[in-house]
Amino acid sequence: RGARGGAVSTPAAARPSVPAGEPRTLVVKVGGSLVSDKRTDDHLDAAAVRAYAALVADLVRTFPGRTVFVAGGGALGHGAVRGLDAADGFAALGLTRATFAVKWAWTAAFREAGIRALPLQVTAMCADQPSGAVADLTVVRRLLAEGVLPVLSGDCILTADGGLRIHGSDHVPGMLVDGSLAPVRIVTLTDVPGILTGTGPGGPVLPWVDPDDPSSAHALVWETAPWDTSDAMRGKVDALAAHARRGAECVITRGDRASASLHHLFAPMDQWPADVPHTLISRTRPA
Ligand code: ATP
Repeated sequence: RGARGGAVSTPAAARPSVPAGEPRTLVVKVGGSLVSDKRTDDHLDAAAVRAYAALVADLVRTFPGRTVFVAGGGALGHGAVRGLDAADGFAALGLTRATFAVKWAWTAAFREAGIRALPLQVTAMCADQPSGAVADLTVVRRLLAEGVLPVLSGDCILTADGGLRIHGSDHVPGMLVDGSLAPVRIVTLTDVPGILTGTGPGGPVLPWVDPDDPSSAHALVWETAPWDTSDAMRGKVDALAAHARRGAECVITRGDRASASLHHLFAPMDQWPADVPHTLISRTRPA
């Protein structure tokens, strides 16, 4: 380790293999809509955070070192980026404070649920280079190796010309799509069961989206509410399609804080319970 300057990266050959169809690493995002009222600027439902944290804590205990958590910004995140001064290149700075408060609420709930969790500031791990966003995963890999849950969120990140830009929570899992963590599955738990194909909230969902041609999903997305700063489902689809083009298996499904467990999130996709509707965005089309 010392000779490599402290970088901790387990060579693929030394890592235990994972059963076929299972992800090695699960990135689970709990959408802001599940834990806050995004029409306000500061609401966070502590009881909902505790309930989802207990479910994720159970995943971490059952599949140690394989889960990364991403907190949706919810009301605090959206509130921090409304009405930014376009002339101020550092205007998005307030997002790092707002989303740290959200990460801290989650971290406290994870500790209450009995697991070690550490909030990580994406601004300090990821920056734009002329070639695109580049991340340093040294600490994430080390935390996973120690069985600690990394807690990430949307944040502002440094642009190639030295300003700050908003990097929403649906974009954050992309930094984890890396050979050292692969295969990676990204599951976004949200307030809908997937991309709805009808008008009813319980209606059928689009089972699969081709990340190289997400037009079938775009055609179904409703107009975004005026208070939404991340383009809701349209933003989610585009972010997840980009992660899927880089090799991740991405899923949109409904979060239910009263679920018995989230263990199926690690199961091969064809073994998910029949009563869990979801939309898969992946280059591998379901059978
Ligand atoms: P975040 O934490 O990033 O804000 P979130 O999980 O709270 O994410 P949204 O960004 O609000 O989720 O995206 C989910 C919303 O997308 C739904 O509540 C719904 O209003 C909207 N939506 C638009 N078109 C569709 C569609 N065809 N099917 C399902 N939901 C859709």
